[in-house]
Amino acid sequence: MHKLSGETVRLISSAQVITSIASVVKELIENSLDANADNIEIKLENFGVDKVEVRDNGDGIRAEDADFMGRRHYTSKLTSHDDLENLFTYGFRGEALGSLCAVSNVAIATKTKDEEFGRCYILDHEGIASSPKPSQCCTGTTVTASRLFHNVPVRKQYYSNAKRRREEVKKVEDLLLSFGVVCPGVRFSLSHNKASIWQKNKLPNLKTALLNVLGSNVMGHLTRVEKNDEETQVKIEGYLPKPGSDAQLTSRSTDDRTWISVNGRPVTMKDFSKVRSIGFALIT
Ligand code: ADP
Ligand code: MG
Repeated sequence: MHKLSGETVRLISSAQVITSIASVVKELIENSLDANADNIEIKLENFGVDKVEVRDNGDGIRAEDADFMGRRHYTSKLTSHDDLENLFTYGFRGEALGSLCAVSNVAIATKTKDEEFGRCYILDHEGIASSPKPSQCCTGTTVTASRLFHNVPVRKQYYSNAKRRREEVKKVEDLLLSFGVVCPGVRFSLSHNKASIWQKNKLPNLKTALLNVLGSNVMGHLTRVEKNDEETQVKIEGYLPKPGSDAQLTSRSTDDRTWISVNGRPVTMKDFSKVRSIGFALIT
C-alpha cells in the first residue's frame, strides 16, 4: 500500500463535489443567490464543456476575502458548528469553488457596491488566487470555468459523447426551471453558444412564476394548497392538480414539471416524482 499524493486526493474528492456540468451551474447559482443576487445569467459554450459562465448582480466578494474564496473549507457563511442550527444560505461547506478549481480553469471578476472598479482573479488548480487585475465589471460576481474536467479522464470521456452533452444542457434547463419557480423574484437567463435558450424575468410570487413556466391553460387546472402544522412547525404551500382535472393537461410522462422545495432548496423526492403530476410544493 502507498499513500496517494495530495494532488490526486484533491482531484478525486473534487470530482465528488463537482460531478457534472449541471452541478457546476447549480453550485454557482447557489453562490449567487447566497450573495443576494436578483439577476443571474448563465452562459454555456460547447454544452458547458468548453465554458460555463455565471454572472450575478449580488454583493460581490470583498478584496480581503478573495484570497480565500477558492480554498477548500473556507466559507463566509459559517463560523462554528452552532451556526448550522440557523443556516439560511445554500452553501456553508466552502467546497464548491475549490473543487471547481481542481477540475477546470477558473477566473472570477467581482466588485462590491463600495468599490469604484472591480477586480479580476485567475485561480490555479489549488484554488489560489492570482493578484487582482482591475476589471470593468458592475457590482456582483462573474465566475468563469473553462475546460471542464480536462484533467478527469472518466468525465472527459463521458462528455465526448454528443448525446450526453445534449442531455446535460437539458439538465441545466430543468435546474433553472426549478430555481425559477423556487425564486420568483430572481431573473434568470441561459444561453448556449451565444444563442439565448431560456429566460425568466423577475416575478412577484410563486403563482406568477408557475404561470410563466406552465402557461395559463395548465395553471387553470391547478389549485393552491396550504397546510401549517403547529406541532412540527412544518409549513407546506403549493399548487397541485384540481381533483378530477384533465390528466392530459396535468400529468406528463416525465417528472420534469414536479417541483418540490424544502427550505428554498429544489429537491427530488422519488415517491412524488413517480406520480408524474404537474405541481409544486414548498416545504418550510
Ligand atoms: P460556500 O458557498 O459553501 O461558502 P464556495 O466554495 O461555494 O463555498 O464559495 C466560497 C466563498 O466564496 C463563499 O463563502 C463566498 O464568500 C464567496 N463567493 C463565492 N461565489 C460568490 C458570489 N457569486 N458572490 C459573492 N461571494 C461569493
Ligand atoms: Mg457555495
